[in-house]
Amino acid sequence: MTYVCAQCKKKLAQEEGALRCPYCGSRIFVKERPNIPREVSTD
Ligand SMILES: [Zn+2]
Repeated sequence: MTYVCAQCKKKLAQEEGALRCPYCGSRIFVKERPNIPREVSTD
């Protein structure tokens, strides 16, 4: 699972729990969502 720092937006590949950004020290992270464009099927 890849996390993205909510402040500096850096990607952090860390396990869940005890997360702390080594760059800015923030403890707020968001789970990176795979940017997969979904095809819209029109019937
Ligand atoms: Zn950060």
